[in-house]
Amino acid sequence: MTINLEYPLTSRNLRPNGTVVDIGRVKVGITELVVMAGPCSVESAEQILRIAREIKVAGATILRGGAFKPRTSPYDFQGLGKTGLEYLRAASCDTGLRIITEVIDPRDVELVAKYADCLQIGSRNMQNYPLLSEVGRSSKPVLLKRGLSATYKEFLLAAEYIMVEGNEQVILCERGIRGLSNELRFTLDLSVVPYLKEKTHLPVIVDPSHGTGNARLVPAMSRAAIACGADGIIVETHYSPKDSISDAIQTISTAELAQLIKELEAVAKAVGQRIPLPLVK
Ligand code: PEP
Ligand code: MN
Repeated sequence: MTINLEYPLTSRNLRPNGTVVDIGRVKVGITELVVMAGPCSVESAEQILRIAREIKVAGATILRGGAFKPRTSPYDFQGLGKTGLEYLRAASCDTGLRIITEVIDPRDVELVAKYADCLQIGSRNMQNYPLLSEVGRSSKPVLLKRGLSATYKEFLLAAEYIMVEGNEQVILCERGIRGLSNELRFTLDLSVVPYLKEKTHLPVIVDPSHGTGNARLVPAMSRAAIACGADGIIVETHYSPKDSISDAIQTISTAELAQLIKELEAVAKAVGQRIPLPLVK
C-alpha cells in the first residue's frame, strides 16, 4: 500500500472500504444512513425534551442542539452553556437518542465530552488548531464542519489535525460555503461529497439547514445529499420553527422532518443505503 504523504491518516487508500464511526452504538458510514436533528440552540429543558421525543418518532437517532453557540454578534444569545448540556443529557435519558453538541473552546472539551456522545466543531472553528488538537485527544467521536470558505484540502488537513492526536472517529460535514447568491445564506457544495468519498475513508454528512439558510429548500437538498452519496444529514428542527431563538428561518418542523425521513428512505434504497431503526432505550 502506498501512503499518501499529504493525507497520511485520512486517505482512502488506508481503508478502501471506509470507516464506520460509532456514536454510542449509532453507526455512521458505509451502509447506514444517519439523521441528526434538533434545534439550533438548546433553549429550555421542556423545549429540548419535546423536540427529542418528536424527532425520535419521526425516525432520527441523534439529537443536535447548541449549548455553546458561536454567534456572529456578541449581543446575540450565546447558549445556555453547562445548563444546556444537562438538558441535552436529560432528553437523551428520556428518549435513548444520542447527543451531538458543539464545543467552541479547548478549555471546555472535557466538560462537553462528559455530556455529549459526539463533539461538533463548527465552521468558524475548522481552523482553530488548538481546539482540533484538544478534541483529537478526546475519546468521543468528532463531527468536523467545513469552514465557510475552506478548500477541500484545508478541510481534509483539519481532519488530519484531529486524527494525528489519536482520535480516528471523525465525521466530515459539508454545511455550505460563501457563494455569489444574495438570496441564500450559503451555497451548499454537494460536489464535495463524492470528491471526499473518493479521497478519504471518513464518513461524510451534509447540513442542508446552514447550507441554504432557508427551510423550504431543506427537503430537496437533503434528498440530493443522500443521492450523491452522503452518509446522513444534520438538520435544524423544532416543533415551532418560528419560535426558535436562533436560525428560525432555516429550521423545519418536526412534522416536516417525519415526511422528509420517509422520502430519504426511498432515496437511500435507490442508492443502496438504509436508515437504521430508532434505538430503543
Ligand atoms: C450549528 O450547527 O449550530 C452551527 C453553528 O453550524 P455552523 O458551524 O455550520 O455554522
Ligand atoms: Mn444554527
